[in-house]
Order: sequence, then structure tokens, then C-alpha cells
Amino acid sequence: PTVPAGSGNGYIAAWIVRLLLEKGYIVRATARTEEKCERLKQIFPEYQDTFETVVVEDITKEGAFDEALKGIDAVEHTASPFHFKADDPQGMPFVYLIGPAVNGTLGVLKSALKVSSIKRIVVTSSAAAIQTVGLPERKVFSELDWNQLSIDEVNQQGKNASQPSKYRASKSLAEKAAWDFYEKHKASVSWDLVVFNPPFVFGPIIHDISSPSALGTSAGDWYNSVVKPDMGGKSLEVIGTVGGGWVDVRDIALAHALALQKEEAADQRLIISNSEFVYQDFLDIANSLSPSPIPSHTDLPKGNPGAGKDFVPNIAYDASKASRILGPELRYHTMEETTRDTLADFERRGW
Ligand code: NDP
Repeated sequence: PTVPAGSGNGYIAAWIVRLLLEKGYIVRATARTEEKCERLKQIFPEYQDTFETVVVEDITKEGAFDEALKGIDAVEHTASPFHFKADDPQGMPFVYLIGPAVNGTLGVLKSALKVSSIKRIVVTSSAAAIQTVGLPERKVFSELDWNQLSIDEVNQQGKNASQPSKYRASKSLAEKAAWDFYEKHKASVSWDLVVFNPPFVFGPIIHDISSPSALGTSAGDWYNSVVKPDMGGKSLEVIGTVGGGWVDVRDIALAHALALQKEEAADQRLIISNSEFVYQDFLDIANSLSPSPIPSHTDLPKGNPGAGKDFVPNIAYDASKASRILGPELRYHTMEETTRDTLADFERRGW
């Protein structure tokens, strides 16, 4: 069996681990502490023989992944900060978002230089490294596009750049660093590189989270918009007009698993995106499901029913390349399936 590693205890990573284990891979996952590793193991009790964990305390440290990658065949690197609260201290810009995103990614690749058994490295980048916000008219983005705008903004404004721009720049810079590093070492390494660029990721969670307030940025935003009576403080206009591309967490995880099997994925950026959305679309579906998957919430917000129907977002994605390369096994969950399963998951947790 192959041995992929380098995943963590995050929202997407836990699903990747699960799908790989189900497909019969031996998996070694990393997390920042022994406690996090232990809790991660508890999610997969039935895979004691094929699942192991390694602590990588600080992914930005020189040689951080040296131990974790020993004897490994493939790597799935997902660890990267995803939040909009990087209050970088004066004089130390980008220590919270851009630092770990870029140096964590480079750290994995540098450690991989020393491991001749590795055949493929998969890096989870983001649609944030592709799209440009604020365009005057609609654009369908493809893998040929790069988000230079956010990089320019942080270059010009430093720590005063907007929080979303810092996150988007962290993903753009980390992905660029990965491709640059790979190009430089391509002739001498045993592995190739695959990069995924998903937009907003929604869907049920399986990683270790104790309350809705601990949810990550995308799942937390979905919960706040679709389940909380006050729509997380969002206005009707925002609920009906603000969104983007989205994909179910199980689909982006499956893409990561398929990437280990498809030779043609080598050296490709791949957009994994289902469709465009505004939050009102999910609200409408949540309210239409009968019986309700979340009966303890008789007060699901209604927003402005139907407001999303005619809204055409400026940002769209062409995900046809990934479908071509990864094949028919990559089937996207529909908005209704994702809504139903996510609400049922919240109901089970008593959220
Ligand atoms: P999570 O926040 O759930 O997972 C992020 C993971 O990265 C966690 O395991 C976290 O560890 C780890 N991590 C974050 N910062 C650091 C750091 N400084 N040092 C070490 N580890 C760190 O997010 P997602 O699962 O949603 O995101 C996973 C990847 O997917 C990220 O690269 C993200 O940019 C990308 N992505 C996510 C999208 C989404 O909508 N969710 C959309 C597009 C891309 P810990 O738990 O210890 O903090």
C-alpha cells in the first residue's frame, strides 16, 4: 500500500484522511500537539493498523517535516491558516498568515527533497490564488488565472492590507512558492506536484470540534448564515448577493484521494468547484426540506426567499479540467445533498 502523509486535523484534512483510509491506504497524519494527534486517532478507531500520527509542532521550522515524511510515497499538504484576524505586530508583518502558508508549504517540499520514495505531492491551494475580486463584470476563472491583486495589496499596504487580502495573498504566495521550488528542483526529484484550487468548502464535519463557534471560516460562515436565527448578523442584501463558488468538503477530499491515482494530474493546478452560490440559495433549500433534517431548529432563518435565483455573481469558475483529469468518480454533491447532510450533522451534535 501507498503511504500518504502530511495531512492534519483540519476540516478538509480529516475528510482526506478518512477517504484515504477507506480506499486502503496507510496514512500518517500530522498535527501540532500530541493531544491533537490523539484526538485525531479517536476519529478513526477502526483503522488502528493503517493510521498513525506524527507531531509537527511548528511547520515553519527548518526540517519540520523531516521525520514525518520518512518512508512516505505521497504527501497531501493541507495545513495553512484560514482566518481573517491576522493582527500582525508592528515590524513583523505576515507572521500569522503569510509566514506559515509560504514557509509551511516550502518546508514540506524541502523535507521531501531528502525522501526518494515520494512520488507525488499534492498541495491544497485555493480559488483565492486564482480569482480577482472587485471586477466590473462577470468573469469565468480558470487555472490560467492568478490573483496578483492581493499580492500587490499586501506589498503596498503591508500589515494594513485588508484581512481577506492577506489570506488571499497567503494562498497565492504559497502556491507560487511551491511551483517555483518545484521548477527549480524538478530534474532531480522523484516526485511531481498537483495543486488544488477549491473555492468555499461546505458540508458535514468529522474533525474534532466542540461547538459551532469553533468551526473554521467556511463552515462557520455557513452555520451562521443558514442556521442562526439572525443569519450571523448578515443583512438580507448580503445573504442574497454575497457568495462565490462552493464545493462539498467530501468532494474536495475525494479529489485529493483521486489525485494519487491519476498519472495525468502531474504538474497541474486543478479547480474543484461545484457551482456559484449566494447564502440565500442554501437558506431556501434548508427551509424546503421535508421532513427537516434539523427539527430542533424550528426557527431556521428565511432571509429573502428566492432572492438568490436571479443573482449572477461576478466570479465563476471553470472546473472542467479537473473533471477531465480525475474522471467520473469525482461526482459533486448537489446543493440539496450538502444542505441536508450538513443540517443533519448539526442536529446530531445538538447544535
Ligand atoms: P482548517 O482551519 O480546518 O484547517 C487548517 C489546518 O491547518 C489545521 O489542521 C490547522 O492546525 C493547520 N494550521 C493552520 N495554521 C497553522 C500553523 N501556523 N502551523 C501549523 N498548522 C497550522 O481549515 P480547512 O480545512 O478549511 O483548510 C485546509 C486548507 O484548505 C487550507 O490550506 C486552506 O487555505 C484551504 N482552503 C480552504 C477552503 C475552505 O473554504 N475551507 C477553501 C479553499 C482552500 P490547528 O488545528 O492546530 O490550528
